[in-house]
Amino acid sequence: MRLTFLGASETVTGSKYLLEESGLRILVDCGLFQGVKNLRLRNWAPLPVPADSIDAVILTHAHIDHSGYLPLLARNGFHGPVYCTPGTAALCEIMLPDSAKLQEEEADFANRHGFSKHRPALPLYTRDDAQRALRLMAPRRFDTPVELPHGLSFRFLSSGHILGAASVVMCRNHKVLVFSGDVGRPDDPIMRAPTPLAHADYLVVESTYGDRLHPDSNPQDELERLFSRTFAKGGVVVMPCFAVGRAQEILYYIARLKETGRMVHVPVYLDSPMATSVTEVYRKHLAASALLRDDQKRHVGQQRDRARDAAEPPARLACRIVGAEHQQIGAPFASGL
Ligand SMILES: [Zn+2]
Repeated sequence: MRLTFLGASETVTGSKYLLEESGLRILVDCGLFQGVKNLRLRNWAPLPVPADSIDAVILTHAHIDHSGYLPLLARNGFHGPVYCTPGTAALCEIMLPDSAKLQEEEADFANRHGFSKHRPALPLYTRDDAQRALRLMAPRRFDTPVELPHGLSFRFLSSGHILGAASVVMCRNHKVLVFSGDVGRPDDPIMRAPTPLAHADYLVVESTYGDRLHPDSNPQDELERLFSRTFAKGGVVVMPCFAVGRAQEILYYIARLKETGRMVHVPVYLDSPMATSVTEVYRKHLAASALLRDDQKRHVGQQRDRARDAAEPPARLACRIVGAEHQQIGAPFASGL
């Protein structure tokens, strides 16, 4: 078995691992490079193998740095199955067309302002390409073996990172190769703790925050302090946060604070169509699955996460959560406010 790192190596985005065995080619994760321009340019470089020679893709989760290259792979001829969990497939249905729309808008902007050296500037991929990729989705449940040719098999193990997120446990001839994917915390308020890994002969592990320790503080207590200080002064809280995972976690904390009387009842706006759609997917999937503990289910999506209505007068006291899935990693959030 041969493993080649095509991304997420000496950088933290663009996750793509090419696994080759007896002529079979499997791509584990299919992510976009994100961040500074030099990294994003790597999305335009051809893969070392033709897209149509890849037999299958296995996705660990839906974040764009793990799934966002799929539309380009599909446009370049890949037509095999994209194995992922049902939660990942549901999130990709929102995120891949959104990513494509962003690419189209960037190209359009460059053409209208003439700052690209390419005439015309073209998008990396389009919404049609995203739809082509979505047609290849082949959802598989957690903990269910999936057989591949040449004696290879794999299963998804819950990694507790975002909805649908999984580690990929691959087996061949009693040897076990594990791709961790992004791993969640054991004490996440929404997701169950990652399923412990019983055994691996080889482990490919994400280590974006591998050199840091989580602070020993409680985010809910911190939010309570921040809200009470701000609202006491008649202020408004504006909170930039990632639209997938983090926005739902914040909504959950706010619901808990309100329910336990630790926060005044101010209107809460989830000011991002994408975060609103994703919250709905979370609500549907988590309510029906064992990923969420019973006492937590009712809090997700309970918050009225209205998109801000221009006709509505601005509330004097309010909490506004600004979805930031488009934000490039490392770019200052302030530029979007
Ligand atoms: Zn992730």
